[in-house]
Amino acid sequence: MGSKVFLTPYGGVNKIGGNTFLLEDSDSKIIIDFGEDFDRFASYYEFPTNMPKDSVERELVLTGILPKILSHEGNAIFNYSEIRHGKTSTRHEREWSIIDNPVKQPFSVIISHGHLDHVANVVFLPSTTPIYTGTYTQMSFLSRFVSKRIGSLYQMLAFSENLANMEDIDKVDVKNFRHSYREFRNEVPFKPSGIEVKPCAVDHSIPGAFGFIIRTSQSTIGYTGDFRSHGVAKAFTEKFKENLVDEKIDFLICEGTNLGIHQIMDEEGVESFTYKAVSDFFAKGGEHVYISVSSNNIDRISQVYGVAKRLGVNLYLSDEVFLPLLRILRSELRRRIISPLPPLIKDPLLRRREEEKWGKASDIRSLGVLIPNDALGELILSKAEALSLNYSNESDFSSIPSESIILIHDRPPLIKRRVKRKALFIISTSEHESEEGMFALERFVNQAMVMGIPLIRVHSSGHINILDLIDFVKTVNPKHIIPVHTEHPEFFKSYFEVLMGIKVTLPYEGAPIVLER
Ligand SMILES: [Zn+2]
Repeated sequence: MGSKVFLTPYGGVNKIGGNTFLLEDSDSKIIIDFGEDFDRFASYYEFPTNMPKDSVERELVLTGILPKILSHEGNAIFNYSEIRHGKTSTRHEREWSIIDNPVKQPFSVIISHGHLDHVANVVFLPSTTPIYTGTYTQMSFLSRFVSKRIGSLYQMLAFSENLANMEDIDKVDVKNFRHSYREFRNEVPFKPSGIEVKPCAVDHSIPGAFGFIIRTSQSTIGYTGDFRSHGVAKAFTEKFKENLVDEKIDFLICEGTNLGIHQIMDEEGVESFTYKAVSDFFAKGGEHVYISVSSNNIDRISQVYGVAKRLGVNLYLSDEVFLPLLRILRSELRRRIISPLPPLIKDPLLRRREEEKWGKASDIRSLGVLIPNDALGELILSKAEALSLNYSNESDFSSIPSESIILIHDRPPLIKRRVKRKALFIISTSEHESEEGMFALERFVNQAMVMGIPLIRVHSSGHINILDLIDFVKTVNPKHIIPVHTEHPEFFKSYFEVLMGIKVTLPYEGAPIVLER
């Protein structure tokens, strides 16, 4: 009997990010995650100054930033959508239309979470492709592409119309996407292209992250996505583990981001360290503390809000933190986020969550927003006024009152800002979560040093630490492991296979692996 079930890796092999795996069970096909390979992207482009803008085929396919997905028999299953350029309009904006190539062999896509190295490339798929995600993933994806990567192929192909023509960018909604995303719910099995998938929520550095349990005709497969067991949602990972044990997994496709050398610190450690650093700094006459986070790391944003609240100081949010947060607060999603969120809107639920976590006694001095000097400035200003928030110009931090924490997405070019003399910068993003690698760390450090801003790093990884990983694998006890999203797949071989007797299959890009027990 010939083999029926194949897994072909097209990304996330021997590196962190870019997860893309084609799973075939006879004629049924699903692609598990469809992420951007940041390293390969950075070999050709630089965010945000040098972005691909002209041709999917000649820029993204030729460079291998987009993989050519072939069935195990070697046939293409689709062609990517393409841009056809028109004339430059009277408003000096380029006009263009989308060439939507038909699918050759039907397939579905399932997305584990909203980090771009797991989802970004879906925008290039034929518009009829069924794409299954959790609810938060759509929201964070939307926020990323509305205000960022403007005018790049990513934004042009993510939406059904040219966002440059929209009056109010804040009105852009998931219904404006070119693809129709379908939602799955925690532990509710669904059948994309006829293959049964059970999504299980996991703890990660973005809300709404899932692992998958996939039943094929020949074997049961577990896919961890990105996960950890030391964050606010660690109970989810525990439940995922129980599900994997119950399902008696044949193959575990497992992430190993934190192999090599990594600092172990849990989210509670980050919270108490941040609290101490900020309170000590202000007690000694410090005026501002800047904290860089990823705008979709909602739990970390909540922590910083908690620190500001408990210390009774001011909190300012940059526009890249403010707008996505406001989007969440205005949607039903706010009810499902575990962490207390900064109360930009009045909602008894938000207040109750805060009291449960931090008690009633303390309160924040004031909440404010940074107004950018670009096209978004006016919009942010009107929202800040409508919500009775303080505001300040983002290029002039010196106008922000003393004893303020300023929460910024990623690491901005400091040298372009006027800053107070006594400022501290806390980096609270990891290298891998810094989705676009917006601004190289070395340049950032040099700028902080020349400006006399002390820098510290306080971070808890979004990924499972090595000791928890060993424990996880021991409990799940799969028959085989396929290591992904790691620079050290050899560790899986030398530890789990040699010491624990679990068969480890190392993946190779484009080489089908037979998944039969
Ligand atoms: Zn991730």
